[in-house]
Parts: sequence; C-alpha cells; structure tokens
Amino acid sequence: MVSVATHGVPAGLRWKPRMGTMYAQSAGEHAGLSRKPAPWRRSASFRAGSRQRDSFRTQLRLGRRGLAIGIDIGGTKVAAGVVDAEGRILSEARRSTPGTDPRAVERVIVELVEELGRAHRIRSVGIGAAGWMDLDGGTVLFSPHLAWRNEPLRASLQQLLRRPVLLANDADAAAWAEWRFGAGQGEDRLVCITLGTGIGGAMVMDGRVERGRFGVAGEFGHQVIMPGGHRCECGNRGCWEQYASGNALGREARILARSNSPMAQDLLAAVDGRAETITGAVVTDLALAGDTASRELIEEVGEWLGLGLANLAAALDPGLFVIGGGLCSAGDLLVEPARKAFARNLTGRGFRPAAEIELAALGPNAGLIGAADLSRVAGRSRA
Ligand SMILES: [Zn+2]
Repeated sequence: MVSVATHGVPAGLRWKPRMGTMYAQSAGEHAGLSRKPAPWRRSASFRAGSRQRDSFRTQLRLGRRGLAIGIDIGGTKVAAGVVDAEGRILSEARRSTPGTDPRAVERVIVELVEELGRAHRIRSVGIGAAGWMDLDGGTVLFSPHLAWRNEPLRASLQQLLRRPVLLANDADAAAWAEWRFGAGQGEDRLVCITLGTGIGGAMVMDGRVERGRFGVAGEFGHQVIMPGGHRCECGNRGCWEQYASGNALGREARILARSNSPMAQDLLAAVDGRAETITGAVVTDLALAGDTASRELIEEVGEWLGLGLANLAAALDPGLFVIGGGLCSAGDLLVEPARKAFARNLTGRGFRPAAEIELAALGPNAGLIGAADLSRVAGRSRA
C-alpha cells in the first residue's frame, strides 16, 4: 500500500503535489537527493492506458454516424437537444417538468422528440435523469424527483418513439460527455463531480461508465465526512454534500448573515436584508464581484471539496477529477482551495502520483450531450 505516509519525513522534505501536472515528483526529487526516475515513471504498464484508449476511440469512431436526441429531466425543467457525433447541439427544446406522474413525463418526452425530429433524422434517444437505472439502461429503479419506482421506461418509450432508447443517470451522462468531448478527453481513469444542490458523482474507466455491480455506483455525495454533522436528505448525518455543494454554501451564508457580523454587510445588502433568501448562487455572484466574506465562504466549501476528493483518490486512484455543476461558476475561487486541501489530505502524498483537478468544459448541457451520445454508442453495440 502507498499509505507509507509522510510521518517519518521532515516537513521540509515532504512533497506537495504540483496540481496541473499529471504525475508528481518523488520526495527525493523534490529534495534534490536523487535524480532517479520514480518507480511509476519507469513502469511500462503505466502507459498501457493510452494504448487502450486508442482502441476505445477506434471503436467509438465506428459509431460516429447519425444524430441522437439527448433529454435531461431535471426537477423543474426537461431540456432536449439534437446532438451530432462530435457532441455539438444542433437544435434545442425545453418544457417544464410536468409533476411527478410517469405517464405525464413520458408524454413530454414524446412531444420533445416529435418536435426535434421534424427537422432531423434521429437514430436514437438518450434520457438522463437523477436516480438509479438498472445496468441495462432499461428500467428506472428509483428517481428522487419523479415518481419512478422500478419503472420499465425504455420498453414503453421505444414503442412510442419507434427508436432505440437508453436511460442513464444524469451524472453518468455528464461524465461521459466530459470524457468524450470536454475536460476529460484523453483520461482513462476519470471521476466527475457535479456540484449543484447536492453532489452528483460518476466514473468513466477505460472507455465505459463504471456503475458498480448493481448500477448504483457513484453516490460520492453521501460518504460521511463529518459523523454526527448536518442531516442529509438521504437520512444520514454528515454527508459530503452537506458540506461541499451549492446548498451547503447557501446555508453557511445564511448563518453568517444572521450572526450580525460586520463581514456579512454586503451579503445582506444584496438581498435587501432578507437573510433567508441567500442562496449559493447569490454568494457566488458576490464572490466574483470581490466580496471578501463570500470568497471566504466559497473557500470553505472548496476545502471540504478537496478533502472529499482525497478520500475518493484513496479509494479509486483516478488520473483526473472533473468538477462540474452550477457551483463551478466560482471557478478558481472554488477549485484552488480544493486543490490545496486535496494535496494536504491525499494519502501517501509525496510518494505517489496525484490526480489533477479541473473544471468541467461543457456547462449545463453536459447531461443532455452525454445521454445522446451514450444512446448512439449503445445502439451501435446492440447492432
Ligand atoms: Zn446523504
């Protein structure tokens, strides 16, 4: 194991990962004690990933024909788009989410596909939603915002749409899109974290979405990071998403605003003194405009983010974390503290290569693009 840790190494000799480089120096290199390449640099198998990746890309090229529709079902809106094989959105349409009734959601999906399908020849449809899908992409096991419980949605939609349909978890779809067309291109071991009201998690490993034995992997937001901490929607206490999410940022800002601290003056002024209306987005905007208190609040969230990423690195050892979701508009104000906290908490630091942490590239359309592309790739493998 790499958990040799740095306890025996004088602090001055400990190596801090240099984020922005894929692989790290060894402690010895840093201290000028040795110029010998680190063991992982000498290993031939270390580069095997890129050869594997080339073969995945070759396979995927075979499927690069035809257009697909991607549909992202959120708690408030349903976004759909025609996506080409390069991940470009050719046209878009939107509807409000029609409550939680599965049949009403199906009708909206059919409407959107008919509307977009008039001007384009569509081969397949990919649908991304929060929740758990079975490994086959045919049945929604559970969706938190919709009344889908063990719903064989694909079979009924394929009948209605007369095209192949694939169901995907929204975080999985976004991760796939970032791997194919965004910030994760070229990385064989990718972990994607989506920071919104909570935390969405997904992995793309060796050219496929890794979903675990039962299709429900990636619930990173519910790792307990503070036993006995804030109550989470999942029922547990102290989940990571209660500390590193847009909701967490909003909650901490409201607490600060109610504290009567002079630091919170600008925050309160921005919401006309109504502390209860402060959200993560309000704090992010103020931070970007230079407000010190808001910047500190985001820095705190960034530190929690980095700590959780270090835990994930200990378990999964990815080459890259891609950070997406609404909170990413804070940019470096969020990611820099996360990188520092990650470097401080990474197990075996100083004696191992470290993952990079980068912002997502595709923005809020990543889920839609990924769902469309997954349906195209799945269609090819079934053919
Ligand atoms: Zn939880």
